[in-house]
Amino acid sequence: MRVQTYPSAALEGLLNLVLPKRCAGCGTAGAWLCPSCAAGLQTLPEARCPRCGAPSRAAQAGCPECRGRRLWFFSASAAFAYEGPARAMVTTCKFRAYRSLVDEMVARAAPSFAVTCARVAGDLTAAESLLVTWVPAHRDHALERGFNTAELLARGLAASAGVPATALLERRRHGARQSGLGRAARAANVRGSFATGSEAARVARMLKRVIIVDDVYTTGETLSHGAEVLINAGLEPHVFTFARTIRAVPSQTSIDNAVRKERCR
Ligand SMILES: [Zn+2]
Ligand SMILES: [Zn+2]
Repeated sequence: MRVQTYPSAALEGLLNLVLPKRCAGCGTAGAWLCPSCAAGLQTLPEARCPRCGAPSRAAQAGCPECRGRRLWFFSASAAFAYEGPARAMVTTCKFRAYRSLVDEMVARAAPSFAVTCARVAGDLTAAESLLVTWVPAHRDHALERGFNTAELLARGLAASAGVPATALLERRRHGARQSGLGRAARAANVRGSFATGSEAARVARMLKRVIIVDDVYTTGETLSHGAEVLINAGLEPHVFTFARTIRAVPSQTSIDNAVRKERCR
C-alpha cells in the first residue's frame, strides 16, 4: 500500500520551520521565489488572440495557434509565459506539493487575474454574477499530491478578487488508459472525462459567466473539454491559467502534435 507522503497544512507549518523554502528558480534558501527570479517572470504582451490568448498581432481568424480548432471557452488568459521561473514554480509544485508554494503563485498571479475578472465580468452588475471553478485532478494524482493545484490556485485567486469559487466539473472516469487506443477513440475518451454535478445546474439559473482556473495552458485541449460541459450546462466559460506555453513559431505540425499529446494525458 502506498504511504501518504503529503503533509497536512498544520504539519507543513512545522516542516517550514525545519525545511526552509527554496527558490523554485535557482534554489536559493529563504523564499519560493527570490527577488532576481521574480524579476524574470515574463508577463504576456498586450497583443494577444482574443480567444486562446496566444501572443499574436493577428485577429482570431488568423491566430496560428487556434485557427481551425474548436475551442469551447470564450476567452483564455494567463499571468505568465510558461518559461523560466514560472515553469519552475509549476514543476516544483508537481513534486513538492506545498500549499505555501501555491500561495506564492496566487500572490504573483493575482493582479493579472483581477484584470481578467474585470474583463470577463464586463457589463455584469455585481461580482457575485461571476464564478470561479477549476479543472479537477485525476483522482490518483490528487491523492499522490494531497491536493489539486488547480483547485488551490482557483480558490486563492477567487479570494483575492472577491469572487466566489465552487466545484462545477467532475472527472467522470479515469482517462489515463489511453495507450492502445486510436486517435478518434482517444479524443472521445478525453471528451467523456468531464461532467458537471448538480451544482452547475443550480449555478446556471443564477449566473452565466465562469472562469476555469488551471496551472498551465498548453494547447487548451483539456480546458476546452471542461468548457464544453459548462456550456452544455448553460454557462459561459472563460479560462485563466497561472502560465501559458508560448510558441515562438507555431507551425501547424507542432500545434497538431501538442494537441494530440495533451489529449493523451
Ligand atoms: Zn531564484
Ligand atoms: Zn488563438
